[in-house]
Amino acid sequence: MTQDSLTFLGTGTSYGIPQIACRCSVCNSDDPRNTRSRCSAVLKAQGQNLLIDVTPDFRSQALREQLVHVDGVFITHVHADHVFGLDDLRPLNLNRDVPTPVFADAESCIQLRTIFSYIFCTEERRPGIPWLVLREIKAGQSFQLGGASFMPFSVEHGRWPCFGLRYKDFAYITDAKRIPRRSQAVLSGLKRLCLDLLRDEPHPTHMSRAESLAAVQELGGPETWFIHMGHEVDHTPFERALPENCHLAYDGLKIEVNP
Ligand SMILES: [Zn+2]
Ligand SMILES: [Zn+2]
Ligand SMILES: [Zn+2]
Repeated sequence: MTQDSLTFLGTGTSYGIPQIACRCSVCNSDDPRNTRSRCSAVLKAQGQNLLIDVTPDFRSQALREQLVHVDGVFITHVHADHVFGLDDLRPLNLNRDVPTPVFADAESCIQLRTIFSYIFCTEERRPGIPWLVLREIKAGQSFQLGGASFMPFSVEHGRWPCFGLRYKDFAYITDAKRIPRRSQAVLSGLKRLCLDLLRDEPHPTHMSRAESLAAVQELGGPETWFIHMGHEVDHTPFERALPENCHLAYDGLKIEVNP
């Protein structure tokens, strides 16, 4: 059986790093790990490729990683930086005889039907249109893809709900300010984690370094890779100051999720 893994397609915050027209040192850095496309990942679970979010950078991310197959898509929330690459899934499902499921909560399904009405107005296959179907998920109720089982849970992204995903002893949490207690219960015994860390300064809808590190502690100190970083985060010095079990993810990094 192939090893379960996660490939970081993108690790940057909503504007992407470098930010357009920014003259800061991180946006003009020579370190390739300071170039961060919008936040997304491919979770390979029991041979199934589950794409987590589809960013406006999806086309270049898929070309870079030579991604040729997606079995399902998980949408964490409907912000532009997490869904606006959906149309670029078109070439990935041309040879399938079933549509690709897009797993999202009820509110996200409504928003996706509005934004991408030409995709989701029918479940029939049509030329020139990605063949995708919405599959509604609920926090605390597992869903299946092939033989793999995933547990979605909700986190607070300011006033917006956002969904995290647990697979075995691994969890992926992007765009979070707080992990509510009911979701912390779903996360017991976690060994590996990906978690939002925007920057040092507090922010109304994302975790700061102090908040992210506190959340890792509360979850029992799993080995953690931080994601959704802003241009305040300079990879090498920032990572050097992190505890031993914490790392900064970067675009193209691949990790084992259940070693
Ligand atoms: Zn985001
Ligand atoms: Zn900058
Ligand atoms: Zn967001």
